[in-house]
Amino acid sequence: MLYADVSWQPVMDAVQQAKQIHIVAHVNPDADTIGSQLALYHALKSMGKCVVMHNQDIAPYICRYLPAVDDITHGDVPSEIAASDLVIAVDAGSMGRLGMEASYFEDKILINIDHHASNTLYGSINVVDARYCATGAMIYDLLQHLNVPLNMGSASAIYAAVLTDTASFRLTCVDADVHRMVADLIDGGADVGLAAQSIYQSHKPARFELLKHALDSLNISHNGRVAWISLAHNLYERTNLCGEDSEGFIDYARSIEGVDIAVFIREEKLQEWKVSFRAKAPCDVGVVAGMLGGGGHQYAAGCTLFGTLDEVQEKIKHALVDMLNS
Ligand code: AMP
Ligand code: MN
Ligand code: MN
Repeated sequence: MLYADVSWQPVMDAVQQAKQIHIVAHVNPDADTIGSQLALYHALKSMGKCVVMHNQDIAPYICRYLPAVDDITHGDVPSEIAASDLVIAVDAGSMGRLGMEASYFEDKILINIDHHASNTLYGSINVVDARYCATGAMIYDLLQHLNVPLNMGSASAIYAAVLTDTASFRLTCVDADVHRMVADLIDGGADVGLAAQSIYQSHKPARFELLKHALDSLNISHNGRVAWISLAHNLYERTNLCGEDSEGFIDYARSIEGVDIAVFIREEKLQEWKVSFRAKAPCDVGVVAGMLGGGGHQYAAGCTLFGTLDEVQEKIKHALVDMLNS
């Protein structure tokens, strides 16, 4: 157990009483939200619960090796899923991040399990704790409270969640207890080699065409402290790729000596830019993203901005001013 003082009892009571449980991940899902969803699915199934998984968006290809990923449906909510009396949202900082109408939750209990400090506590039951390095690690603790042993499905899913949300165990939130949890996950059936191959060594060749453009756009400002990369929409069209194919590009910008903040701006639709921030200690990009209408954590955050690339960069520079002067 990572944190013994977390109050899981309301979650366990709601799970006991539920007839059908819908587990939902956030929009534009990453491996933490999908891994958390799958781990909870395996655990609740093994308890004999009726449980379904449905998200707005399809799971990223790096998650395709995880057991039961094909059981997740996406798009409009089918009526048999809408019949659920309990919804459990994992790794979503606000209701908007679920991509569903608020009315969907009106006749249901909504449990919000998340590790974003900026979480808006939108659930009827909220277990929100920013000490956790990943929502997957929260599910690890919940499973122990539920007395459900790890199996290959849940251990692999939690491992993928923690591996990716800690930038491969590189963040300062990775302490000895996180590594003890990982040891337990490996004992429980998580295949470290398969995870590495599926997540980091299965990229499409065209990704590297896109990476060339991204590195070409690399630009460093603020006396070497901020590194920027950007990709316009037409480059994704030309390479027949989408946002998930440029996952990780921002790490090149953060890896530069002296850079405190990396910014990756990609055009999702014409003049609609998905902005990603990454920081090194002691900077906190969660605050910057929050000022721009988004959210996230100290070292990884994001938001969506509209306009030309120049306009978007100006808005970001404005939001960065206070942090870089402090
Ligand atoms: P990304 O750069 O997309 O990998 O996101 C990094 C972190 O920021 C994740 O923890 C996300 O949950 C959070 N994040 C990204 N975009 C948004 C947004 N538009 N609103 C709130 N949080 C976001
Ligand atoms: Mn996430
Ligand atoms: Mn997360």
